[in-house]
Parts: sequence; structure tokens; C-alpha cells
Amino acid sequence: MSLKNNLKTVVLGTGGTIAGLRQQTDKPDTYRSGQLGITDILSNAGLDLSLVEFQDVARIDSKNMTLPVWQDLYKAVALAQKRPDVGAVLITHGTDTLEETAFLLHALGPWPKPVLMTCAMKPADHPQADGPGNLRDALLLAASPGLSDVHVVFNARAHHAMHVQKTSTDHAEAFSSGMAGVSAEKNGPDWTLKAPLVQALQQNIPSPDYFLQQSAWPRVEWLTHHSGSTPALIQALLQPLAGAPQLRGLVVAGTGAGTVKPSWEAALQQAMAQGVSVWLTSRCTWGEAQVQAQQNCGELSPLSSAKACVGLALHLMAQDEQSSAA
Ligand code: ASP
Repeated sequence: MSLKNNLKTVVLGTGGTIAGLRQQTDKPDTYRSGQLGITDILSNAGLDLSLVEFQDVARIDSKNMTLPVWQDLYKAVALAQKRPDVGAVLITHGTDTLEETAFLLHALGPWPKPVLMTCAMKPADHPQADGPGNLRDALLLAASPGLSDVHVVFNARAHHAMHVQKTSTDHAEAFSSGMAGVSAEKNGPDWTLKAPLVQALQQNIPSPDYFLQQSAWPRVEWLTHHSGSTPALIQALLQPLAGAPQLRGLVVAGTGAGTVKPSWEAALQQAMAQGVSVWLTSRCTWGEAQVQAQQNCGELSPLSSAKACVGLALHLMAQDEQSSAA
């Protein structure tokens, strides 16, 4: 592996299975995420540490991701982007919420230098650990010319932040970009860049300063519509709850094109009348909410539901910023 134009890659660790260790060596599934620091992860991959600069931003299971960790990650990425001696950023992360972090960083971009993220399905001390290979692949891709923006590198493929979704809990091909296709593919020792169509993000984003000053996200909840569902959950969410921040946004994963039954439509209209922003997504893995849903109970979002939760929280933050400046 060589440096791209003598530029370094800054590697930021956040935890996940790639940093996980088994609790009982005879039971590979009994492991804890986020046990190793980034130095050990890089050393295990047999990498020459003089080619990289590294920092532990967090050591967590990604299900426990928080706004402060995202803020620290954003700051580290933004700092690395500004340095003339840095060519790329690589983040190690748990697989479970990786697509949310990828989307957040993409939304807060643009990043002219690539921001790659990688992960593993097997812990670091597993005999078939996949983390070291993914890490080496990601560093190789980081050194290839012509790539920018945020991509997830996993199992010899790279996925753009807008498309990537975790689609399997235990399969080696755990991530997919669906119909959009991958952003790069490794055949033998070389990466080939592809150019999947990436829709421009049509939403409000807070300024970096405002994002970094916040101590909490606007509260957004995610509901899935299904055959037996009743509007009771929506009505319950609209009631004030001691100790919980006021509900600001609802992401509703509708059936098919993003449809909901009339009782949900009425409850969502009530939510909107109470000032709650509603975004309609599709519960189909690769489905987008579409206009034929023709329901007057929220805005259609083309994002996956998980990404829409981040997108709506950013949108509400941006609204707060605008009203605080008015
Ligand atoms: N629970 C882990 C995490 O997301 C799963 C993984 O990394 O594969 O942190």
C-alpha cells in the first residue's frame, strides 16, 4: 500500500464488531463490540502505521450512537478535510447503524476528499475475522484517485452513503445498494470505480456551527404501518410524557408506495395540526414513498426509514436555527 501523492489517511475508530472481542473463545457469537482501540485494529491488519494517522473517537456498539459522538466524528472529519497533508478519512464503525452515520456525514458535506467507512461482521479475535481485510481494502480505495464523498467499504464493494443499507444480520454480504448499484468494486488487487446515480439531497441542513452547538436532537420517532396496526400508537405519542422531550417529528414507514389506512391518515393529520412534522417513507427495503400514495398526511421522503429519521432531525434542527436567527 502506498500513499496517494504522499497524502495520509486519517483513521477514526468508533467501535463496533470490527473492534469486538469474544467473551468465550469457543462461542464466536458471544462477543462484545468496541473493545479494541484503533491502534490494535490497525496492527491486527498488518498495516504500516506510518502511512496513517489514527484516533479513537469512541468505542461503542453502534446501536448506542449518540449526538456527542456524531459531533466529535464530524469535527474530526472536517479537520482532516482541511489539512493539505491528508488525502482521505477512514472510519471504523459498527454495522448496525452505519448507514445512519454515513447519511449524516454525507448530509453535512460536501467532502471533496473521500470519507470511507468500514466495519466487520466477525469480531477481531474470530479465526475468520473480516475486519482486517475490509480495512486493507478501504485503505487501498482511499489511495485511489477520483473518489470523493462518503462510502461504506465492505466485502470488496463500496456503497454510496445515500444508497447503502444493512440487509442481513448474519450473511457475509451484509450491505447492499439495491438497484442503484455499488460505487466501487474490487476485482483481484484493484478497485474499479463505478458511478451510481446519487440524487441531490432536497432538504434543510443546519449549519455546522449550529449542529455542533446542540445538546440533543429534536425528538423524532419512527412508526411502521401494517395490516393490524391501529392509530393508538400515534395518539399515545401525541400525549405529553413526563421526562420525554416534546415530539417534533414522525417518520412513518407506510405500506408499498408509502400508504396508510384512513385511521392512520386522520391521526397523522392530527399530529401535523399539533405541529409535528411527518415524513412518509416506504417499508419496502428498496421502495421510495411515491406520489401515487396521494395522502395528505405528511411529506414524501425518498430516503430509507432509518436515514429519514436522521434527515428529519437535521431538517428540524435547521428550522430551529432559522427561527433562532429571525
Ligand atoms: N452490534 C454491532 C455494532 O453495530 C454490530 C456490528 O458491528 O456488526 O456495533
